[in-house]
Amino acid sequence: MSYQAPLKDMRFVLNELAGLGEVAKLPGYQDATPDTVDAILEEASKFASEVLDPINLSGDREGSVWKDGGVTTPKGFKQAYRQYVEGGWGALPFSPEWGGQGLPKLVATAVEEMLTASNMSFSLCPLLTQGAIHALELCGSEALQKTFLGKMIEGSWTGTMNLTEPQAGSDLSLVRAKAERSGDHYLISGQKIFITYGDHDLAENILHLVLARTPEAPEGVKGISLFLVPKFLVKPDSSLGERNGAKCASIEHKLGIHASPTAVMVFDKAVGYLVGEENKGLAYMFIMMNSARFSVGLEGVAIAERAFQRALAYAKERLQGKDLVEGKTVPIIRHPDVRRMLMLMKSQTEAMRALAYVTAATLDFSHKSPNDEARKRSQAFVDLMIPVVKGWSTETGIEVASLGVQVHGGMGFVEETGAAQYLRDARITTIYEGTTGIQAMDLVGRKIGRDGGRTAKAWLAEVRKVPENVLSAQLAVGVQAVSDCVDFIVGSKDPRATFAGAVPFLKLMGIVAGGWQMARAAAIAKGKKGGDTSFFEAKIATARFYGDHVLVQAPGLRDTVVKGSAGVMALTDEQFLAA
Ligand SMILES: Cc1cc2nc3c(=O)[nH]c(=O)nc-3n(C[C@H](O)[C@H](O)[C@H](O)COP(=O)(O)OP(=O)(O)OC[C@H]3O[C@@H](n4cnc5c(N)ncnc54)[C@H](O)[C@@H]3O)c2cc1C
Repeated sequence: MSYQAPLKDMRFVLNELAGLGEVAKLPGYQDATPDTVDAILEEASKFASEVLDPINLSGDREGSVWKDGGVTTPKGFKQAYRQYVEGGWGALPFSPEWGGQGLPKLVATAVEEMLTASNMSFSLCPLLTQGAIHALELCGSEALQKTFLGKMIEGSWTGTMNLTEPQAGSDLSLVRAKAERSGDHYLISGQKIFITYGDHDLAENILHLVLARTPEAPEGVKGISLFLVPKFLVKPDSSLGERNGAKCASIEHKLGIHASPTAVMVFDKAVGYLVGEENKGLAYMFIMMNSARFSVGLEGVAIAERAFQRALAYAKERLQGKDLVEGKTVPIIRHPDVRRMLMLMKSQTEAMRALAYVTAATLDFSHKSPNDEARKRSQAFVDLMIPVVKGWSTETGIEVASLGVQVHGGMGFVEETGAAQYLRDARITTIYEGTTGIQAMDLVGRKIGRDGGRTAKAWLAEVRKVPENVLSAQLAVGVQAVSDCVDFIVGSKDPRATFAGAVPFLKLMGIVAGGWQMARAAAIAKGKKGGDTSFFEAKIATARFYGDHVLVQAPGLRDTVVKGSAGVMALTDEQFLAA
């Protein structure tokens, strides 16, 4: 069963919910005409189904292999990457100044969803590269930009993000890698772990963005700087020179994403170039992380879509049990409980997609709107939603992939069907780029607490404006639940009580934000006269299901956030240890 990009839903979300028409009016995005975007979606969908999907299962079985300091990716990956570069897929959202295609993030998001759904392991290489490009575009010196950006955007050189060390995971204040000045560059030493695509054979050079400390740097996060460390040094004429002292010492054996190499990197006086200013590395890294966090959220959407498609195909074919009314043996899709699972998969996937695309469109406004106030408002919304897109879509992506296994019965638990791979692959998404706990603390502390809940309340006011629709009642209850929690968070004097409910609050935000989009979708679908009536009717029915089965959880989550902290902290340390 090969991956088919859900083009109908993607187009509906792009045009009706995310407002592609308005995005295309922003300065610099005039090329995003309906015809161009349609052609891009069609081509990307073919590339995903015909090139990436066929090497997904084999890539999982074979895995990337480390030998003698280098990594070989599974069969077919190199060829697929060449096609990715030739297709110009990596260049979509970047500035034409550096060879990019200057298309909106919104359009690139739909393409990214397809690449990820068809082959998550493959898509991680471009994902990290794009984050590195963003960091260099925004903080790199002109010299660094000239030397590296063109090649990265074209895809000939890839990028990595080197934050994690054995003692520094969620807490990057503990980073110990060193950077000593040596003339016009620095010498970087130390070990990094878990580096995605830290080494591979897909491209001729790899550019590592590395967090390290200069000798006189202050302790903690204020003493971290960002360096660009190439695998091969680059000569003034842009040709490749000596091998730098940045080596891959091994790769991890892990639960999923087997084709994506997760490297232990050793830096031994490797030549590195400062990105931006000393001691501001973490702020720059946040630029990469925000872009990467959004993309990881999108991984949740993508893997959920893929799991849904496979489960649906299986449910149509698997004959088991009798129809409750007619008494004949039927495909399992006829059983109410199987339909319930499929609807949970479908409705949540559509809700997550809509929220992610709307966030991407707002990101475009935050960068390109000619109006200062609109740019600021858009940025505030994006900042609020990034942890939600990341945390909620990945947690839900795992849930959906797990339902996919359940729909398959025993065939889901064995590896043959591929359903198990999606669950294994999805499992990392709530861990890397900041665990769900870290996203939730960001949401509660920085995004709600710091501005006294203003951005969240402004967003809730927008949600209240959605025209009457099939889930109006549940949405109103959900909005009230978020509003109560925001008041609780802003008014709380006890950070432990606030943070004890941070993840349930993130989930509440996710299901209400998803409900907001499903409500808009239902209202729009209801207003359509003619066209694809079957699609519009399905949209309304799916929104109703989402209201009754997902959004309905809102009041319970509100109670958990507001009253649940006592239970979280109830046991003493001794009671925990005694257990
Ligand atoms: C396959 C894979 C690929 C990766 N790719 C990269 C990469 O390319 N580059 C890179 O730099 N890193 C990468 N990572 C590392 C990843 O980002 C970290 O694993 C992640 O940030 C979590 O850090 P940790 O593993 O040290 O867990 P820890 O920080 O030890 O966390 C353990 C648990 O404690 C919780 N926790 C920690 N601190 C707090 C707190 N203050 N409050 C509440 N709860 C807390 C966490 O939520 C988690 O549940 C990758 C990891 C994996 C497994």
